[in-house]
Amino acid sequence: MEKVVINGIENNDRMSTQALLQLIEEKLEEGYTDFEINACGQHDIGGSAWSRTEGKELNFYITNPGQRVGAMARKGTNIFVNGSTPADVGWLNSGANIVVKGDCGDTAGHCAASGKIYVSGRVGTRSGALMKHDPKFETPQFWILKNTGSFSFEFMGGGIAVVCGYDCAGLKSVLGKRSCVGMVGGIIYVRGNVADIAKTVSLKELDDEDKKFLKSGMKDFLTAIDKKGLADTLLDFSEWHKIEPLPTEEKVKKVSVREFRKTQWIEGGIFGDFIEDDMSIYPLAATGKGRLRQPVWNKELCVDCELCMKNCPNSAITKDDNKIYSSCDDKCIGCSICETVCPKAAWTMKNNQKEVD
Ligand code: SF4
Ligand code: SF4
Repeated sequence: MEKVVINGIENNDRMSTQALLQLIEEKLEEGYTDFEINACGQHDIGGSAWSRTEGKELNFYITNPGQRVGAMARKGTNIFVNGSTPADVGWLNSGANIVVKGDCGDTAGHCAASGKIYVSGRVGTRSGALMKHDPKFETPQFWILKNTGSFSFEFMGGGIAVVCGYDCAGLKSVLGKRSCVGMVGGIIYVRGNVADIAKTVSLKELDDEDKKFLKSGMKDFLTAIDKKGLADTLLDFSEWHKIEPLPTEEKVKKVSVREFRKTQWIEGGIFGDFIEDDMSIYPLAATGKGRLRQPVWNKELCVDCELCMKNCPNSAITKDDNKIYSSCDDKCIGCSICETVCPKAAWTMKNNQKEVD
């Protein structure tokens, strides 16, 4: 079947987004798979569409689109944008191949979960934020020829991003300011200057696997954006690094509740200048029979890690020479922290409601 051509504006009459998307839907139902969309800012083009023709992928050739090109687009969809796009390109991309021959607005690749997004220019603020990878699906990839705006890759949970830093020699950071905050997974390959990234990620040298990935991926990327001539420049690995989140144990310094209270809650805390803490428990917190719940210890489950003892806010837990733990009724306030912190569920809270009533 030949290509369908849809013009977003004709005789000075602009088609609404809804009408344009409905028209695409009708043509899909008729079995069309190739679309040329000369848009006039209509949004969501190419997203959530699927081919009705067995074995044939969908191809969208788009100019002048509005926001969210290819948002939630599926595997088997190929989107080519001739020029730049506004925000949210490939938002929650679910498997499509998206090529933008220009710059992208903010939040490009936001929440991308699968598929590939190739951008031959720059991308805006918060691009790549919340990218993720469900191992059931192909790893999402997000390739950018130049640089990103600030807050990029915030809360990234998975996937691969490649920021080539081309034509960015004068920038302090090709990732803008405060990038990678809250990043917990995935990899960002980056070429050029990087500054002001979150303290919970690390900038590392590439290993052989990384170079192998970049070599093969770069070929596809540069072919898609018609810039094969840049291969030698971009594959000079001396300028590349990768960013990965730090392992949890390096990110989170574990402190006991008592230690936290002593060193962070008051001292150094927002009320630190006004409050002195004598480390006593508020007198209205009931102990003994007045507690709503009381902890019960199970010797069989305990592995003697002392976490409960260290975290009890009122130092109610002690252990004897035989590693028998007990909670002192006169000190225990029934807060259940021991139950929460115990890795073996050796403490359970018994309901004391009857006694209280
Ligand atoms: S319930 Fe709270 S106060 Fe009582 S022993 Fe457990 S941690 Fe300590
Ligand atoms: S936290 Fe649990 S396992 Fe560790 S010493 Fe206390 S009761 Fe035993």
